[in-house]
Amino acid sequence: MRSTVEEWNRDVAVGTDTRFDRQHLGGGISEGPFYALGPMNAFITLADGGLAVDTQLRVTTADGEAIPGLWAAGSTGQGGLQLLNHGLHIGWAMVFGRLAGRHVAQSQNRLDLSPTEHVTVS
Ligand SMILES: Cc1cc2nc3c(=O)[nH]c(=O)nc-3n(C[C@H](O)[C@H](O)[C@H](O)COP(=O)(O)OP(=O)(O)OC[C@H]3O[C@@H](n4cnc5c(N)ncnc54)[C@H](O)[C@@H]3O)c2cc1C
Repeated sequence: MRSTVEEWNRDVAVGTDTRFDRQHLGGGISEGPFYALGPMNAFITLADGGLAVDTQLRVTTADGEAIPGLWAAGSTGQGGLQLLNHGLHIGWAMVFGRLAGRHVAQSQNRLDLSPTEHVTVS
C-alpha cells in the first residue's frame, strides 16, 4: 500500500501516469484522512443475447426462417449480439425499434389492417 502511494505521488510529481496513462492526475496523495477500497474484481452483470432476427427484424427459427407476423427489437431482438460499449444497448433499442416498427407497418402479413389512400410509410 505504501509503495503504491509513493509510486503514484512520483508519477503526479512528474505529470506522467506510468501504469495506466491517465491524463488527469490530481494533486497526489499526501494529506489524510485516507480511505482504502478493495480488493475489487470485475464482474459481467448482464447476459446479452435475445432472439435471433433477420435484417427486417423478423424473429427466425433455429433454421433461420422468418416466423410470419413476429418481429423483435431492443434487448428482446438483439440477435445474439454482444454489445460491449457505453450507449450501444440503448442505441440498438432505439434504432432497431424504429426499423422494426417500419417493417411491421409495411408488412404484407398484417391481416388486421386494410390499405389507406394517401398515406405512405417511409
Ligand atoms: C442497470 C442497467 C444499466 C444500463 N446502462 C446502460 C447504458 O449505460 N447504456 C446502454 O446503452 N444500455 C444500458 N443498459 C441496457 C439498456 O438499458 C437496455 O438494453 C435497453 O433499455 C433495452 O431496451 P428495450 O426497449 O429493449 O427494453 P426496456 O427498456 O426494458 O423496455 C421494455 C418496456 O416494456 C415494458 N413491458 C414489459 N412487459 C410489458 C407488458 N406485458 N405490457 C406492456 N409493457 C411491458 C417494460 O415496463 C419496459 O418499459 C443498462 C441496463 C441496466 C439494467
